[in-house]
Amino acid sequence: MKKVITFLLSLALLFAIIYSPDMMERGADIENADLEVHYIDVGQGDSILIKSKGENMLIDGGKRSSSERVVSYLKDQGVEEIKYMVGTHPHEDHIGGLVAVLDTFKVENIMLPNVISDTIIFEDLLDAIDRKGLKIKKPNILDEIKLGNAQLKVLAPNSEKYSLTNDYSIVLRMDHGNNSFLFTGDAEKKSEEEMVQNNSRFLDVDVLKAGHHGSNTSSTDNFLDAVKPKYAVISVAEKNSYNHPDKEILDNFAQRNIEVFRTDRDGSITVMSDGKNISFNKKLASISAGEMFSNIGKSISAIKETFIIKYITAKVNPENM
Ligand SMILES: [Zn+2]
Repeated sequence: MKKVITFLLSLALLFAIIYSPDMMERGADIENADLEVHYIDVGQGDSILIKSKGENMLIDGGKRSSSERVVSYLKDQGVEEIKYMVGTHPHEDHIGGLVAVLDTFKVENIMLPNVISDTIIFEDLLDAIDRKGLKIKKPNILDEIKLGNAQLKVLAPNSEKYSLTNDYSIVLRMDHGNNSFLFTGDAEKKSEEEMVQNNSRFLDVDVLKAGHHGSNTSSTDNFLDAVKPKYAVISVAEKNSYNHPDKEILDNFAQRNIEVFRTDRDGSITVMSDGKNISFNKKLASISAGEMFSNIGKSISAIKETFIIKYITAKVNPENM
C-alpha cells in the first residue's frame, strides 16, 4: 500500500512539474472583464463556453468520450444554467458531449442546423432534447442573440442544402464592445464563399476559431481577407489521424501575422474581454497541480481518460469530421 501511495505521489509530482498552472500569454489580467470565452481542450473536437454577466452559452460539446471533461469544466466554471446551447453540425466530435451536458445542466434554448444524421449519437441527442422538453431552434441568417453584455449574429448556413455535413455548420459572430469573435464550427470553402458574398461586412473580427480544426478545407484566402483576424484558435488533438491542422493553413496564418493558439499545445484557452482589450490565458493541463494533490484518485482517472481519447482518435477515422 505504501508503495502505491509513493507511486501515486511521484506521479502527481511529475505532472505538477510538467504542467505549470495558468500562464498569461498576453498582458495582465483584465480587471473588469465581463466576457470570457473558453476554448475547452476536448482533444479532437470543438467545445466553447461563453460567459457574460452570469449568462452562459455552449457551442458544441466535443466527442462523447469528452462528456465528463466538458461537464466538469462547466461545473468548475460555476455554470448551473446554459441559456443557449448550439450544436454547430451533427458530427460526433461536436455534438457527442452535448447529451451529458443536457442531462446535467438546465438548458434554456438549443439551436441545431436543419440537417439530420443517421447516427446513434444524433438519435441520443434528439432523445435528450426531448427529455428536457426543449424545442430545437433553427438558425436564420442575421438572427441576433443577446448573451449578457455580448451580441451574437448568425452568419451561416446560407443555403438549404449542402453536399457536405460540415457546410451546415452554424457560424456565429460575437461582438462585445470593440472586441469581436467568429465561431465557425467546421464550415468549409462553400460556406465561407457564401459568407463572403452575402455578409462580408460582418466578418471582420479580432479572434477567429479556425474552421474545421485548421484543415485546408477551410480558412480560404478570400475568407481570411474578409475576417482579418489578429488571433486564430485551433481546436485540435495532438497527433490526430486527420493531420489537422494543415501546414499550409499554419503557414498562411504566419504570413498574415495571425497569432495562433492551439488546444493540442496550449490546453484549454481562455480569452477575457472588457469590451476594449482582450487577453489570452493558456491552461496547459485541464487539471492544475493543486487539484492533482487534492484528489489524486480523480487525477489518475482523468489521465486515463486522456489516454483513452488518444487511443480512440487513433483508431477511428470515419467521415471527414
Ligand atoms: Zn469537427
